[in-house]
Amino acid sequence: VNEAPGSTGAEPWDVLVVGAGPAGTAVAGGLAAKGYRVLVAEEHARVGRPVQCAGLVSRRVLDLAGSSSMVVRPVRGAAVFGPSLRSITFRADGPRAFVLDRAALDVHLAERAVRSGAEIRTGLRFDRLLGPPNGEAVAELTTSEGAPVRVAARLVVGADGVASAVARAARIRRPVEILPAFEAEFPKSPGDPDQVEVYLGRTIAPGLFGWWIPDGSGGARVGVAVDADGTPARLYFERLLGRLATRFGSPLANPTSYVVSGIPIGELPRLHGDRVLLVGDAGAQVKPLSGGGIYTALRAAELAVEVGGAALAAGDLSSRGLAPYTTRWREELGDEFRRALYLRRILTRLSDAELDALVDALGGGSLAGTIVAFGDIDFPTRVVRELLAASPSLVRLLPKALGAWVAPGRAYPVPEVDPGERRK
Ligand SMILES: Cc1cc2nc3c(=O)[nH]c(=O)nc-3n(C[C@H](O)[C@H](O)[C@H](O)COP(=O)(O)OP(=O)(O)OC[C@H]3O[C@@H](n4cnc5c(N)ncnc54)[C@H](O)[C@@H]3O)c2cc1C
Repeated sequence: VNEAPGSTGAEPWDVLVVGAGPAGTAVAGGLAAKGYRVLVAEEHARVGRPVQCAGLVSRRVLDLAGSSSMVVRPVRGAAVFGPSLRSITFRADGPRAFVLDRAALDVHLAERAVRSGAEIRTGLRFDRLLGPPNGEAVAELTTSEGAPVRVAARLVVGADGVASAVARAARIRRPVEILPAFEAEFPKSPGDPDQVEVYLGRTIAPGLFGWWIPDGSGGARVGVAVDADGTPARLYFERLLGRLATRFGSPLANPTSYVVSGIPIGELPRLHGDRVLLVGDAGAQVKPLSGGGIYTALRAAELAVEVGGAALAAGDLSSRGLAPYTTRWREELGDEFRRALYLRRILTRLSDAELDALVDALGGGSLAGTIVAFGDIDFPTRVVRELLAASPSLVRLLPKALGAWVAPGRAYPVPEVDPGERRK
């Protein structure tokens, strides 16, 4: 897979995919299977490396990938810890999520794309787009030896992750927040290998949360994703390690690898341009309440294959011809994303005392059962709505707008009130 030579001759490619992460190779495989000539350019030397992910996914990801060979551990439950380390545990009878060998997922998807006829060239970095928007797209790239390469293609797919150079080149606006993330792997860790742990608190992870995820071989992946407030994410990570030392009674030692990356949160006004589609992190197709983006990248890739394939067949690769991609994404996941962004804005404004109260309230009565019954890591706002409907005490903790959102008889609208005005 890795060293397939890229032909950059005069004959244009149908599709140039930039980035060999899950989004890129899923699009490449789908379009190659439809008979199009597809080149994937990946700047790193190896597909799947370096790993920049905790690798926790739903069963949908295994279905979309067509394999479960990369699963290292199914998990049945989750424990959520408030700032004071009071916690609530949810546990289902069977697997509710899967911890993956993330590099193995990427390699599997890349091999599938190659089997479908796509060509993957590693060590090839996309730099910019040339040419008039209505002509064929000409991309300038650079090999790892520093040699410039030009590739002409009818369609360019930006699957180049959080800092998308394709989005920049195509002048597609990305009004997203990029949450700095810091993660390390510990070869040995105490803790229940059947569950993941989530840590809330303004001092350890303002903006999102910290996590402890069993790695399937006695160790754990530990990390934080936080607001970009100028404080290095590593500092929050060190504080999380302090919490874990308190929780486990001994510090975690000898980390083997570190991940320093970013998670894009937000909604792009459009995910397409003339001859360009953005897929995955490049299009901020990342779940706003968890920062998870593998399921959404793979689902977006399917939509990109359908719309991109139809546009290639019709010979209309204009922004208008590709617009159904943005429309279909919005129809399918737009409401979930907007509700999640709204909830995120509320949650990020809660004080540590309020977060503790939230954890206590979730632990009360039958709410834990509701979470187990309705919890879906890909569509988390569904369970939030069930919880709010079931618990007046929970609603009291949160702004009035949220109460209105779950009032009986209302449809499932996206609240309009900006909670930022209410809490600081
Ligand atoms: C610390 C951390 C933990 C995470 N944990 C989870 C999790 O548990 N579950 C989950 O679902 N999601 C998780 N995510 C999010 C998930 O990793 C991403 O959403 C997912 O990788 C998106 O896939 P992608 O293909 O869009 O982008 P990527 O996987 O980032 O792939 C982009 C590819 O493009 C390449 N590239 C970039 N620029 C260029 C260029 N100019 N030219 C050529 N190639 C280029 C990169 O090298 C890379 O291979 C996590 C993210 C972080 C940072």
